[in-house]
Amino acid sequence: MNPFAFTPATQIDAALAALLDPDTRPIAGGTNLLDLMKEGVMKPSGLVDINHIGLDQVEQRDGGLLLGALARNADTAYHPLVRERYPLLSSAILAGASPQLRNMASNGGNLMQRTRCVYFYDLGTACNKREPGTGCPARDGLNRQHAILGASESCIATHPSDMCVALRALDATVHVRSMSGERAIPFADFHRLPGDRPEIDNTLQPGEMITHISVPDAERFIDHSAYIKVRDRLSYAFALVSVAAALDLDADGTICAARIALGGVAHKPWRVEAAEDALIGKRADEAAFVLAADTILQGAQGFGHNDFKLPLAHNAIVQALTTATRGTDHARGLDAGTKGEPA
Ligand code: SF4
Repeated sequence: MNPFAFTPATQIDAALAALLDPDTRPIAGGTNLLDLMKEGVMKPSGLVDINHIGLDQVEQRDGGLLLGALARNADTAYHPLVRERYPLLSSAILAGASPQLRNMASNGGNLMQRTRCVYFYDLGTACNKREPGTGCPARDGLNRQHAILGASESCIATHPSDMCVALRALDATVHVRSMSGERAIPFADFHRLPGDRPEIDNTLQPGEMITHISVPDAERFIDHSAYIKVRDRLSYAFALVSVAAALDLDADGTICAARIALGGVAHKPWRVEAAEDALIGKRADEAAFVLAADTILQGAQGFGHNDFKLPLAHNAIVQALTTATRGTDHARGLDAGTKGEPA
């Protein structure tokens, strides 16, 4: 690991001042950044410790939910407000990583985590994301985990988060601050597709830091939501495909509103709002869900080892919508976490 300066901050302005140096990174839980530094993938000359500047709220605000950037993933998932009013978000967070990692990982860090593409972490290989212009060995190499949607010639990596998939489905907003002021970024615009600049993961600008995430009221989806994560093993594995699904159904089982977002398939959480709009007014049944999956996966393409993701994603979308129709399983994530079982 390279030497670096370490600056503890107790005020947000002190942290933002330290971030004026483009080689300085904020550190909270460090569950991804420290791995990247130990592997030599990222070599910041400075770290500013932001663990003691506040920003750890989980509270109701303006009729919705406010999540501080420094609230821990576990505290967020188990917070009564999140469990009762945003069960889709709670389930998605509890599907990620392991109990120990969720105890450390912050909400802001969850958004900022980087791809787990094996070539990105292997300094002995080329990688356009790590070293722009060197190439993308994943295209013709080991691409079992890689994207089937939104990929580019330069990069076919996926974003690894589960939490972000639910936040995308729930129309969250990312609030950021720098020494120049504050701005709000719709979740859809926070992460980006790789295009010809795969080294840029998101639209955060130099000197900016996430302060909080807001989620609008989602009462209409409380009773019919599901997060399904398909992975190679039940514990501590990233999604091959995940689906956050939420439905608002009337008494006859007709769909009044739908949300569907996918993880593990693209450089950002994937959502096709046209597929959701097309469900409105239809009965919540398999025929409708198959059509939605067809629409969401239009243009999907495999790269060899990950060809299986096309039918897998289709089946997972239908399964998630079918599970959501049956009713939210409020207890599932909580049971897994409290018993210390793999999640
Ligand atoms: Fe690098 Fe992206 Fe290619 Fe992986 S998929 S090797 S991160 S350029």
